[in-house]
Amino acid sequence: LALVVGSYNHDYAWRVERAPQAGQTLRGDAFRTAPGGKGFNQAVACARQGVPTAFIAAIGADAAGDGARRLAADEGIDAHWQTCTDAATGSACIVVEAHGQNRIIVALGANERLDPAFLREREALFAAAGVLLVQLENGVEATCAALDLAQAHGVLRVLNPAPVHDALDGTLLARCDLVTPNESEFALMLARTGGARIDADTLAGRDDAELHRLARGLGVPSVIVTLGAHGCFVSHEDARRHADARPYYRVAAEHADVVDTTGAGDAFSGALVAALLRGRGRPLRDAVVHANRCAALSTEHRGAAEAMPRAADVERRFGS
Ligand code: ADP
Repeated sequence: LALVVGSYNHDYAWRVERAPQAGQTLRGDAFRTAPGGKGFNQAVACARQGVPTAFIAAIGADAAGDGARRLAADEGIDAHWQTCTDAATGSACIVVEAHGQNRIIVALGANERLDPAFLREREALFAAAGVLLVQLENGVEATCAALDLAQAHGVLRVLNPAPVHDALDGTLLARCDLVTPNESEFALMLARTGGARIDADTLAGRDDAELHRLARGLGVPSVIVTLGAHGCFVSHEDARRHADARPYYRVAAEHADVVDTTGAGDAFSGALVAALLRGRGRPLRDAVVHANRCAALSTEHRGAAEAMPRAADVERRFGS
């Protein structure tokens, strides 16, 4: 069982010629609404790879929350919803200008109320899980409680450190076995944990030995930095623990006819966890290759959760 503890947000997106100024009302060209939230996106990415997936999240007692229940059920996800009566389901307001610039407001709402006690009441899920996947869109107490429950049951703990915020520090990272930052998250993590100050835009161009040295500074046994169109970089403290031959290496991106990269990182983390569960004992590298393939496929469709590929899509394109 893959267990995802995370967020559900509902996205409301408007396409406009240009964003309104203060006091101004403008007509939008198009409106679109879609499920999102890093936790939900990653749970969908994982479940679509054919792995039994449980998801714990908090929603409001509102229409968006009802929608979340239906969507999770449609995906075959074993969802455990904490319903909050004093907070709304998480939402994101996205304004996309004609030249592609985004302006986004996220109200995490119920996600911030996810209660550690709600998680502890579901300890049986942690006991049954092979891998736990968390992100940073809940209150930090809930995230830490999930990681601690996983540790108590010997479950592999994976953190997608997104979005990076003040709660991310050495004590949170000390609870993780593997982290999957993108370039800017990796740079922010280094800065927040007292490491080097580096420009995220220069990361992909740095040599592997230097990236490994930087990654080791985080104090997490395994670090996978996703590098967008450059694929990803893997750094281990102990490569043998994950049956990998080398302590650090790169995996190049797969070719993709990119339409929309929203959710590529979520596709990567969700598919990685699915592959880790299915391929236990096999090299981590195999799981990374699979995650890289799924993430590339997700960029060929619009949206986040909706764009996650299925196992059959990966098979059709890559033959495995
Ligand atoms: P995020 O979505 O969190 O910013 P990245 O941009 O690093 O994360 O993308 C995550 C993964 O998605 C990459 O490691 C890669 O596997 C895949 N990916 C992203 N952009 C492309 C692209 N242009 N072509 C192929 N794969 C891509």
